[in-house]
Amino acid sequence: MSGNGVVIIGGGQAASQLAASLRENGYAEAIRIAAAEAVLPYQRPPLSKAFLKGDVAATNLLLRAEDFYSRNAIDLALGDRAVAVDRQARRVRLASGGLLPYEHLVFATGSRNRKLAVPGADLDGILDLRSLTDAEMIKARLEGLVRVVVIGAGFVGLELACVMRALGADVVVLEAADRPLGRAVSPEMSRSLLEAHTASGIDFRLRTTAARFHGASGQVIAVETADGARIDADLVLMGIGATADVELARDCGLAVSNGILVDAHLTTADAAVHAIGDCALMEGPRGGRKLRLESVQNAVDQARCLAGSLAGRAKLPDSVPWFWSDQGDRRLQIAGLTEGYDKCVVRGDVGCGRFSIFCYAGDRLLGVESMNQAADHMIARRLLASSVVLAPEQAADASFDLKSLVVTAGKITAEA
Ligand SMILES: Cc1cc2nc3c(=O)[nH]c(=O)nc-3n(C[C@H](O)[C@H](O)[C@H](O)COP(=O)(O)OP(=O)(O)OC[C@H]3O[C@@H](n4cnc5c(N)ncnc54)[C@H](O)[C@@H]3O)c2cc1C
Repeated sequence: MSGNGVVIIGGGQAASQLAASLRENGYAEAIRIAAAEAVLPYQRPPLSKAFLKGDVAATNLLLRAEDFYSRNAIDLALGDRAVAVDRQARRVRLASGGLLPYEHLVFATGSRNRKLAVPGADLDGILDLRSLTDAEMIKARLEGLVRVVVIGAGFVGLELACVMRALGADVVVLEAADRPLGRAVSPEMSRSLLEAHTASGIDFRLRTTAARFHGASGQVIAVETADGARIDADLVLMGIGATADVELARDCGLAVSNGILVDAHLTTADAAVHAIGDCALMEGPRGGRKLRLESVQNAVDQARCLAGSLAGRAKLPDSVPWFWSDQGDRRLQIAGLTEGYDKCVVRGDVGCGRFSIFCYAGDRLLGVESMNQAADHMIARRLLASSVVLAPEQAADASFDLKSLVVTAGKITAEA
């Protein structure tokens, strides 16, 4: 050992979890976090939900209290972005000029929002949401807000639309695809969400996007859509997805595409360098499909696994991916990865908004989307983690007791 310990680049969910899990695993070397944001690591999910609504204060978003880091000898360089990595010398240069030597380097740089490059995109009042600072900027504009246009009906876009509507604004959502959450959920789930959100007063314009923004005195006043409509707006919120933050990794010669390429042990081609969380593009088990996920579960799970490896207790990330999103007063939960399904069966009552959609490839269950059905979601995670078979007919039969199948399946410890 060099005695230089671990340097983590990024100060978010994955970084904080990795540092905590390293200490839990008895790792005794130095741990240093270089964080571009000037605040202690915090949870992002409430930013588009309870925080914007005013139900949660910024101090309650912190993942761990300040003294947790000092008590555990975790050095935080807050507001000090890592600007270069010298892999030969094994050290990281910070914007402040500081140099951090490492034995192991971990990229936990997260992702960045996509921007829409159309005329007028730099007008005041066009905002997006990734950080606490972004959320505070949106919050500062909420008073007297009348008309909001949300661009993009992905998870964050829809959550923002629901919050804005709940706060009393007229909300129009523009979506380029023919349904909301088109890349993430089944058509049945999209349809249910579209109906529920439309009933709450949100106006959806599908198969179109913003072609330009109109302003007056530097402030956005309207959005012109690709099909020529003009929609008045006091505030425009962008939710058009994110890309992995890979620049620094690429600049130091690591392989990147839509993520920093790591093997199943979260290690790059350089054995001293790793990547976890949103920024990591992980090789699938046994050389299978590469996967990059943007979720709290993924960030936490990968951080825990890497911590085990670095502390000498190797464990591969193997848990079933899961995700949640609050859609107004509805909670959508997804267990597993549904991509590639060829059959969906519905269990429950779509009309009253309590149901689950079981997605199959042949007879193999790939994943389950649950709406206000937390019990189905928990059972789905256990089933997917086990070799127990749930036939499509059983899933569709509301009188079939799903719990009876999971008695011997693995225990679930984490809750959304
Ligand atoms: C508005 C919003 C709502 C969300 N809702 C949900 C949800 O409901 N459910 C869910 O599962 N997930 C949700 N997510 C996703 C979830 O928050 C992320 O998947 C998770 O935060 C990923 O953790 P991470 O540590 O990989 O990245 P992040 O938490 O994004 O942290 C990365 C950090 O690295 C910093 N950084 C980047 N480059 C450098 C550098 N060179 N030097 C130093 N620091 C650097 C960044 O500034 C950032 O602070 C949401 C995300 C957002 C933005």
